[in-house]
Amino acid sequence: MRGEVPRQAALPERPEHWVSPGDAAYDETRAVWNGLHDRRPAHIARCRTATEVSQALRYAAAAGLDVTVRGGGHHVAGSAVADGTLMVDVSPMRAVTVDVHARVAVAEGGCRLRDLDTVTAPYGLACPTGTVADTGLGGLALGGGYGWLARRWGLTCDHILAAQVVLADGSIIDATEHSHPELLWALRGGGGTFGVVTRFTLRLRPVGQVLYGAGVHALDDAPDALAAYRAYTGRQPVDLHTVARLGHAGDQPWVPEHLRGGPVLLLLAVWSGDPEDGPAQAASLFDEIRPAAQVARAMPYPHLQALGDDTRPKGHRYSTSAAYLDDLPGDAVRHLVEAARENPSPRCSIDLEYLRGAIADVPEQASAFPGRAAPYQLTVSAHWTDPGQDAEHLAWSRATADRMRPFGTGGGYLNHAERGAGRSAREHYGPDRYARLAAVKKAYDPTNLLRGTVDIRPEGDHG
Ligand SMILES: Cc1cc2nc3c(=O)[nH]c(=O)nc-3n(C[C@H](O)[C@H](O)[C@H](O)COP(=O)(O)OP(=O)(O)OC[C@H]3O[C@@H](n4cnc5c(N)ncnc54)[C@H](O)[C@@H]3O)c2cc1C
Repeated sequence: MRGEVPRQAALPERPEHWVSPGDAAYDETRAVWNGLHDRRPAHIARCRTATEVSQALRYAAAAGLDVTVRGGGHHVAGSAVADGTLMVDVSPMRAVTVDVHARVAVAEGGCRLRDLDTVTAPYGLACPTGTVADTGLGGLALGGGYGWLARRWGLTCDHILAAQVVLADGSIIDATEHSHPELLWALRGGGGTFGVVTRFTLRLRPVGQVLYGAGVHALDDAPDALAAYRAYTGRQPVDLHTVARLGHAGDQPWVPEHLRGGPVLLLLAVWSGDPEDGPAQAASLFDEIRPAAQVARAMPYPHLQALGDDTRPKGHRYSTSAAYLDDLPGDAVRHLVEAARENPSPRCSIDLEYLRGAIADVPEQASAFPGRAAPYQLTVSAHWTDPGQDAEHLAWSRATADRMRPFGTGGGYLNHAERGAGRSAREHYGPDRYARLAAVKKAYDPTNLLRGTVDIRPEGDHG
């Protein structure tokens, strides 16, 4: 409850299709992807139109309720849901249209990544997004958006051309380069607390067949392989995106029998350049890194996006932390491999992703997104199902993040960050960018109605 906000005299009527405590659908509707979070909002406004979002925000202001916004509900911190608030749930809003000639898509604010890919792929077009098709577009795009096409084309937030936004006072506006340009700047990486985005206008890129490759190394060979990976990334072509994953091998036939199911280093690579060059590029990568076995397959882009389906189901328990690394010295590799040996269960993993390329081509001040210069992103993901194993998994995830801190730039990707586990918003964005974001917040949500992943306050600096 927002104690500081005076109630309006008359509370608007609560629409019948909202879901509230006691309703049969309440538990199912308040549940988010990360089963660790069991929070009870005062009401859930299931919204189908911008007008319904507007009604919900006016209601919240009148009732003195803070607001959270749910897109796909995937943020690891469960920031889409909070106790005693109004959840504005835009997940029913999933329509997408495409203008093939202009190479532009218009996607509603509750889309999943697959909704967008399904409509654009038949035209050989795609908006660069994340790697798991079930993820929500809203949170991913507003917080950044890394994926297999990022080195070639940039982040998802770099592809936001315009947005329809419902502001805290209930007004519905379009943020474009000409109208509300500061708001548009903030939406490109500043998160979802400036207003509810009901429609994204997104730039599309020509994307058809891609080549997916994977190599596997025994964990004992990981130090040498990661040293070779570091050397390779310095001259990695921009059309190639790679991730080195310390995790567990599956039981696919291409994985040597003695490595199946065990702890390994996986090298994952996607070539999105000229399809004719893909096999040679994959061969040169694997020649250099020398996995025990490898596989490379050409596939349409939506198939690539579907590879992550079912790997991280809704309702399991998750803890993620993220850090940017300046470099990958031998000491950092030693700590990573030790952390991999201490990995408490086969679903947990440590990803090291090489960035740069088009991500770093965008000038630092051109968008709210921080940390573009970082060469590597480290993501530590704990994933388990048994509540009795919470302590063990959380301890591993946090200990791994702690031991890697000396090698970090001090920054990290907010879309992979647990709330409270890391830095304040000011530390994440840096003082200048944070001051600019706070000014946008003050202009568009002066009473701090909208709460989310990141705590940007209208009054500015709070350390
Ligand atoms: C399985 C999985 C895979 C992932 N893979 C990637 C990846 O490859 N690349 C990557 O960059 N990230 C990835 N992520 C992280 C992802 O970017 C975040 O979880 C992101 O928050 C997902 O968006 P969402 O809409 O589902 O989140 P939600 O939990 O619904 O929302 C998170 C926050 O976003 C804001 N928000 C969401 N929608 C709107 C809207 N329409 N208007 C205003 N604010 C909104 C709200 O502030 C909300 O608190 C992955 C996450 C998961 C769970």
